[in-house]
Amino acid sequence: MPHTKSPIPPVLPTQEQWDAIIQNDSAYDGTFFYAVKTTGIYCRPSCKSKPPLQQHVEIFPSPDRAAAAQFRPCKRCKPEGRQLPDEEWVLQLTELIQQRYAEPLPLQELADRIHGSPYHIQRTFSRIMGTTPAEYTQQIRIQQASRLLTTTKLPITEVAAAVGLTNASHFSTLFRKLTGKTPTEYRNLSLEKEALLDE
Ligand SMILES: [Zn+2]
Repeated sequence: MPHTKSPIPPVLPTQEQWDAIIQNDSAYDGTFFYAVKTTGIYCRPSCKSKPPLQQHVEIFPSPDRAAAAQFRPCKRCKPEGRQLPDEEWVLQLTELIQQRYAEPLPLQELADRIHGSPYHIQRTFSRIMGTTPAEYTQQIRIQQASRLLTTTKLPITEVAAAVGLTNASHFSTLFRKLTGKTPTEYRNLSLEKEALLDE
């Protein structure tokens, strides 16, 4: 009798994965791929093609595994495309930090948002940017705080809170560390410069 390999049982979508498929949620792209038994095609979660019936869906961790199970890549969402190069990925991370610096941004949160492990993010970011995500976030916060100090009359505590640093004394220490001046000195200097220009 010919030897036949026992088939690996298909992996069915979790409720979370199924929701992602139905909502074409691009946040899940790269975290899993889904194949549809009736069409023989596999897709990214964000694919805009007609939603399949749930009982026909199988989940794969990578395009290679879906291809190994004889599924073909979808022409529409091109799931076989290579993963983002690290530079592109780090760029997305810096954009995310620039948009959300006013919120607490622990590494785990960044990791969840761009679907990487904290360890990998820390390493890749540091290699490409020469600074850790946390240090970069602080730089952005202080940059924004400098802008608020010179363009608004907000009290220091409010400037601190507006850039995501709710502890005002921590804010002042960090500000001084990165600019060499206290927030008040920084503001006064800018006022003096303006006064000179006005004369
Ligand atoms: Zn597709």
